[in-house]
Parts: sequence; C-alpha cells; structure tokens
Amino acid sequence: MSQKDQGNWESRWHPLLEQWVIISANTSVRPWSGKLSKPTNTVEPTHDPECYLCPRVKRANGELNPDYTGARAMDNDFPSLSMAAPVPQDADNELFRRSAAHGRCRVLCWSEKHNLTLAELSAGEMRDVVDLWCSEFTMLSDEPAIKYILIFENKGAEVGASNMHPHGQIYAYPFVTDIAKKMRASQAGYSECHNGCGLMIDLMNAPQAESLVVEPSKHCSVVVPFAARFSYETWVVPHRQVTNIAELNDAERADLARMYQRQTQRYDALFKRKSPNITLLHNAPCDNHPDNRHWHFHIAMQPPLRDPEKVKYLAGAEAGSNNIVNPLKPEHAAELLRGCAIQ
Ligand SMILES: [Zn+2]
Repeated sequence: MSQKDQGNWESRWHPLLEQWVIISANTSVRPWSGKLSKPTNTVEPTHDPECYLCPRVKRANGELNPDYTGARAMDNDFPSLSMAAPVPQDADNELFRRSAAHGRCRVLCWSEKHNLTLAELSAGEMRDVVDLWCSEFTMLSDEPAIKYILIFENKGAEVGASNMHPHGQIYAYPFVTDIAKKMRASQAGYSECHNGCGLMIDLMNAPQAESLVVEPSKHCSVVVPFAARFSYETWVVPHRQVTNIAELNDAERADLARMYQRQTQRYDALFKRKSPNITLLHNAPCDNHPDNRHWHFHIAMQPPLRDPEKVKYLAGAEAGSNNIVNPLKPEHAAELLRGCAIQ
C-alpha cells in the first residue's frame, strides 16, 4: 500500500449523529480544476455607514441603532421565524401537514467594530460574548413556544454570510430540529446502555481520543472528532457534563471563552486569513423532554476549507446520502492544528 493510501477508505461511526463518515485522504490529492478561494485579506473599515449592524446606522425596519459598544443582541429584521406567524386552518392534513413557523431570530454583534472578528477581540470582550450567549439562551428558553435554540455563526462569504460585520445569529424554533433529536436520542440511548455514563465523557476519555486533542485545558478541551465530517472540524467540549451553556459556572465560562477564541486564532493561522467558518453551539432542547438530561453541551466548528485555497462543497454523493466524505484523516488534522503558532 502506498503512503497516500494509508488511512484511506475508512468508514468511521459518528456516535452522536449515528451515521457513517467516509475518511478518504485520497480525494485530497485529486487534480483540482475547481473554484479556488484565495485569501483576499480585504481591509474592512472600523465603521461602515451602509452596514445595518454598525452603531448609529438606520436599519431596514427604520429603527436607528444605538451608539453601542461591545457585544449586543437585536432582533433579526428579516426573520425566518416569527411569533406573529398566522396559524393555518387545515393544519392536520396527513400528507399536507403544516403549522405556524412561530419562533424568534436574533442577531448578535460581537462588537461595535465593523472589522473585528472574534479571534481579534480582547479576552474581556470575548468573555462578554460568552455571557451574551448565556443570557440569550436563558431568555429564549423561558418562552413556552420555543423548543430548541440554535446559536451559530456563519463567518465569511464562503459560507454565505451576507454582512461582513462579524456577528452570530440565533434561531429559536417551535420544534426540536432533526440534528438535536438525533443527538438527544443517541446520548440518552448510550447512557441507558452504559449504567448512566455519558457518551461525550466516554468519547473524550477513551485512549483513541488522545491523538485527536488539539489543546487541553482545565475545564474544557479542543478536539477533532474521531468521525470528523469536515477536514478541520473541531469541538470545544466542557469536561463537566452540562446540558446547556448557561449551566457553566464562572471559571468554566472563562475557560470556554479562552479555548474557543484560541481555536479561531488557530484557524486564521492555518488558512492565513480571517478564516471562514460555521460555528454551532449544541445546547440541549428546551422542551422539557426527560432525555434532555443526558445532553452534553459543546461547540462545533466546521470550516468549509479543505486547505487554504479550496472550499469543500457538499456534492451529489453527500446530498444524496447524508454521509459525508472527509478528505483528511482526523488525527492528521489534529496534528496540523496543534502545530499552528498562536500567542
Ligand atoms: Zn458594521
């Protein structure tokens, strides 16, 4: 077997999503004539009067943004979900079932500065972002109509971000999403079969996990998942099992903020730019289901890049199967990330 074949054509089981991921490093050496995504390192201004997230700018809804500083949450002016959604008349039709898309969409600005990514915030500002995630989660989970809260960031044009002002979003759903249902069932099922042990705790403490650690810390660790679905996917996992971010104590929040920010800096070093990314905060659903207690909160980062210039697109095989082909061996990704020089 040639060197490039080693670690190839391996199916790895993703125990949280209960699906196979194909690890095929061979596909990364295919001749590439597709689109390249070269770093542009465009310099954005600190304030853009055309940006509806900047301070003192009039938004699409006619409201004037206050002269704010620091992390700030506001309602999305173009929400996909709304508490004002009308209730349909014929909701119970078996084949044409529908319901009102009740919910809330929020926008989270990391700072008043139009050009400052999370990786570039001060430690105190980054901690304020974590506290904002917590307070938003608590506020939204108190609303009876909300069953699941997804806090996320689409960063960069490569993942479809439409506004370059660094920001995250929240979708607060009236139902538990497909991925959350799958993760809840897998964690509850594992716990029941293993005398109450946690899936994520056992995953993190297994000997096979050692070579997947990017950086360990006191209260959480950054790891590449064994069945990573994206070349440089990483998770920030608290060592203590909590079902949602708001349950973390002060010291744990501070450590999470530091480790998460360090990982964003590592991506910037690896890809030599303000790197595009999708960040997902996997909190337990808030629908009072008894299985929610087995959930282990963690942050997943899924950069779309397979190397500094190539975007990994989900194509036919993946769209038709939902089983991802990852062109990089996860242990190798962890090694490359560990080697990134950050402060
Ligand atoms: Zn802006």
